[in-house]
Amino acid sequence: MRRQVRKSGNGIKVFSFDVDGTLVSMRFADCVWLQGIPEAYAAKEGVSFEQAFDFVKSEYDKIGDNRVEWYKMDYWLQKFGLSTTREELFGKYKGEVEIYEEVESVLKVLKAEGFKLVISSNAAIEFIEFQIRPIRKYFSLVFSATSDFGAVKKSNGFYTRVCEIADVKPHEVIHIGDHWVFDFVNPREIGMTAYFLDRGRSRNRNIKGEDDEFVISNLNGILDKFRKR
Ligand SMILES: [Mg+2]
Repeated sequence: MRRQVRKSGNGIKVFSFDVDGTLVSMRFADCVWLQGIPEAYAAKEGVSFEQAFDFVKSEYDKIGDNRVEWYKMDYWLQKFGLSTTREELFGKYKGEVEIYEEVESVLKVLKAEGFKLVISSNAAIEFIEFQIRPIRKYFSLVFSATSDFGAVKKSNGFYTRVCEIADVKPHEVIHIGDHWVFDFVNPREIGMTAYFLDRGRSRNRNIKGEDDEFVISNLNGILDKFRKR
């Protein structure tokens, strides 16, 4: 029996999803950034993988995920002087793409209930498209903050643009993601409803009481919130 999702009464029209850590695990991205790139750097410089890893990682950390460059493969390939390509790296690790097991069934229910589904990610568009291929059909719009708008989701401007393009008001959107600031604090600031996805819930931060109802441990938590009594 199909689960019922309540649509009327709350005015929600759109569900927006983060990608890394939300729809897919970090495995593929970690392999590309923390294995493929250091390996290529080690080969080029004739140093050990460990030395290359430490150097590459410290360079990533200097930039940090608040800056657009952090997400851009071309920036790093050029910075490290590597001749490998994105296609090569993606091909090498394609077996590591991992869509979380409950994702497709949840998307299917929401789609069948008439909600519009969109993606709102910081990842570069190539990373998004490559990893979500099996579930791409459920989404009507895919937004990469860094590729499409040259900004990270840190700015509220990003979510405002998403609403404009999707032609909805912020209060008609529910966003779900696993980054406390990018996916929870910021979308709420412009009036969206947000759910913080905490897949490793018990070992993480203590959520203050009033926010607790907006924390879920997997995407089924969304259906539980909207299921008819
Ligand atoms: Mg994420």
